[in-house]
Amino acid sequence: MDEQATPQRTTRVLIVGAGFGGIAAAIELRRHGITDVTILEKGSDLGGTWFYNSYPGAACDVPSHLYSFSFAQRRDWTRLCSPQQEILEYLHQVAREHGVAGLVRTGRTVTACRWEEAACTWTVETACGESWEAEALILATGQLHQPHRPKIEGAETFAGHSFHSAEWDHSYPLAGKRVGVVGTGASAVQFVPEIAPEVARLTVFQRTGNWFLPRRNPPYPKAARTAFRMIPGLQALRRRFVFEYGESLTAMIRHPRTLGLIGRARSSAFMRAQLKDPELRRRVWPDYTFGCKRILFSSLFLPTLQRANVELVSDAVTAISPQGILDSSGRTHELDCIIWGTGFKTNDFMLPMAITGRGGRELREEWAAGAHAHLGICVPHFPNMFILYGPNTNTSGGSIIFYLETQVAYVRQALQQVAARGAAAIEVRADVEAAANRALQHRFAGTAWTECDSWYRDGRGRIVANWPGYMREYLAQAATLDAAQFEFASLPERTAAAGV
Ligand code: NAP
Repeated sequence: MDEQATPQRTTRVLIVGAGFGGIAAAIELRRHGITDVTILEKGSDLGGTWFYNSYPGAACDVPSHLYSFSFAQRRDWTRLCSPQQEILEYLHQVAREHGVAGLVRTGRTVTACRWEEAACTWTVETACGESWEAEALILATGQLHQPHRPKIEGAETFAGHSFHSAEWDHSYPLAGKRVGVVGTGASAVQFVPEIAPEVARLTVFQRTGNWFLPRRNPPYPKAARTAFRMIPGLQALRRRFVFEYGESLTAMIRHPRTLGLIGRARSSAFMRAQLKDPELRRRVWPDYTFGCKRILFSSLFLPTLQRANVELVSDAVTAISPQGILDSSGRTHELDCIIWGTGFKTNDFMLPMAITGRGGRELREEWAAGAHAHLGICVPHFPNMFILYGPNTNTSGGSIIFYLETQVAYVRQALQQVAARGAAAIEVRADVEAAANRALQHRFAGTAWTECDSWYRDGRGRIVANWPGYMREYLAQAATLDAAQFEFASLPERTAAAGV
């Protein structure tokens, strides 16, 4: 619902972001009787990642039987890995079915959140001039949200058109154009095969090669769809299988010298079969441990590189001129359009929002040496504030929705603890958070994640994006909130009334 901004509003729980995380949180809270919930969303509709990323071929490479809420399972997915539009429709449907779609206030970019010590509330300001007051704040803006455009000399002089994959310009016709794509990550490998047939020439600029595994993803045959619909337990079995497959990927990443070699051999065989030209194969081949960066699932990308109108450039992008892109060999690639498939500002999390906690502490400063939070959710000195898909909760072998569901149940327990104690605020103990964070970082030792540079790391090389283990480990640690790990605060008048 987009409506006229009014200056001051109150709500018990304020959620920032209406993607999978924000919607899951609202559903969980309402189910447990916390109904005064508002979701502020900067976009013009709910959906988060699946609202913004509408590039051709956008889909989730995690099969939908797992990339879906456990409480809203579907038997009618059209294919193994659903396209963006199907996932977006699913999220809309779930939000409607659970009565939370109407809680979303769109067109609200949150600029600042401030903890009010005396009142034990959060004041949240939006770019449209609203101010909200809430007892609890849930930040559900995700890790892959702010598009990253590398600073390249001369970028502003380019005479053609350009846009980022997460802000696809559907009004710009690519047909017959000379197009350059910078980046070969999970997004680019999905849209490059889609646009290659329609453009005149496609130049793909690769900085680092990737490990690939197959993904054809045709629509389910009718028989499979009927079987999912008719056979009780089949869809649950499928979900279980995909879960265990995800855990096996994590096992390969955790054990690069043993299990990881199996994944590497599988990927090598697949890539060799796809790349007939030995020179192209040499240039595409990754030079790092299998699983260190995101493993890419595509059976279409490598064949696309071998089309007559496609060229892979593995020389570095050094500058941009009005005509196109200059590479480190001194060649200029003349282009009509540059598409940035260069990912996201992953270390910023929900920044650039200014978030001020207890004692005037700025989250930006607290995280100056790298983001950290207890289970990715709670930060010391920031009472009643909870992050979804926060630091160290990204997955390299699983479904982020599994993590989100675990996190929203944890947040709900935190709010229940506050209510049960007649307290006003809950805050994770700094010693607990620091010890957990040390243990978590220790868990990365010996894993593939440590063996190259990737978006999982911050500027100092610390891995801040990923969870270092299995989905089941995260569940084991976060399923039940341990109240002893927290401090509770009461409002002075409540304390006095209780005779404390
Ligand atoms: P990404 O994985 O971060 O890839 C960015 C690409 O841009 C990389 O190839 C990177 O090269 C390249 N790049 C960055 N700066 C560059 C520069 N200055 N010059 C040349 N190349 C540069 O971004 P993404 O593809 O948007 O995907 C981000 C994440 O979103 C994924 O890892 C995944 O978690 C998620 N995602 C998921 C799906 C899905 O199906 N589930 C689909 C799309 C995205 P380097 O490798 O050398 O850094």
